Parts: sequence; structure tokens; C-alpha cells
Amino acid sequence: PEAAPGPGMAEAGEAAVLAWMDQALDVAKEALEKGEVPVGCLLVYNGEVIGRGRNEVNETKNATRHAEMVAIDQVLEWCKQHKRDYREVFPQLVLYVTVEPCIMCAAALRLMSILSCCGSVLSISSDDMVDSGDPFEQCSSGYRAEEAVELLKAFYRQENPNAPKSKVRKKDRRQ
Ligand SMILES: [Zn+2]
Repeated sequence: PEAAPGPGMAEAGEAAVLAWMDQALDVAKEALEKGEVPVGCLLVYNGEVIGRGRNEVNETKNATRHAEMVAIDQVLEWCKQHKRDYREVFPQLVLYVTVEPCIMCAAALRLMSILSCCGSVLSISSDDMVDSGDPFEQCSSGYRAEEAVELLKAFYRQENPNAPKSKVRKKDRRQ
């Protein structure tokens, strides 16, 4: 059935937000296991996950394959499969992400007009950015922040088995 416009996270309630963040953290853990910077995100549409991304930078050798970009591609694919106009779907999406989106992803999310975002560690995404769409309608942070930071620490503590050692730190800082 045609669902009503998706609830933003204000309507979703704290418990729901934390549940989504737990799922996003699970995705981030997958990234860690694969030797990627542990960032995970979900794009939720009307209470349904239609995009689920983690960093795939090392795996794909593509520096732009951040969790958010992967999830955006999944949503576009979902729209195609469900014959939905992405311009109607994206403004209803809520992003749950474990780490603040980098400037590339923040700009991409805003260009796609995502409704709101919610994360562990966020600050820039609601700031004004020239030529990158409107600021998110809602943005809140601090959810499961400790776990998200612990994952990052774990990543930077360990040697990445999938990447040349000398490159890991330098590369991942910017990716
Ligand atoms: Zn990014």
C-alpha cells in the first residue's frame, strides 16, 4: 500500500532511533571485519531499510565508496525496482550513520534532499554549504557515540590485513 510520508526521527522516538543506530553499528562492524574504516549507515524509508551501506573503499579500490554513497546507490536501485521516483523517495529518507558524513557524503546527501539524519558523531551536516542543497531538516547526534568511536579506535589500533601497511593510516584519514 502507498505509505504516508515517512516519519522523521522526531516522530520515530528515542527507542526506534537507538534500534536503527544499533543496526548501523552492525554494518560498521562488518566493515571493520573486512578491513575497511568502520562506518555504517542505513537509509530508512517509512520504517523500512532500503539502503544499507558500509565503507567499501579498500575492497573496490575506489576512494568514493563510502557507506553513504553505497547506501544512496542502493536506494536508487530500490526506486528502479519499485518504479518509484527517487525525487519523491529521497526527501522522505532518514539517514542513520555511525560517523559524521564527510564533506563529500554530506553534500551528496543534501543534493539528494534527504529528510534528516541521525548519527553518533555529527556536526557539519546541518551547516550551510554553498551549492549543496538545503540543510537537513533535522539532524541529531550522540546516539551510540561511544560504540562508534570504539570501532574507529579498534580500526586504527589494528593493522589492516587487507591493505598495504604503509598506506592504511594515510589513506583512511581522508577516505
Ligand atoms: Zn563520506
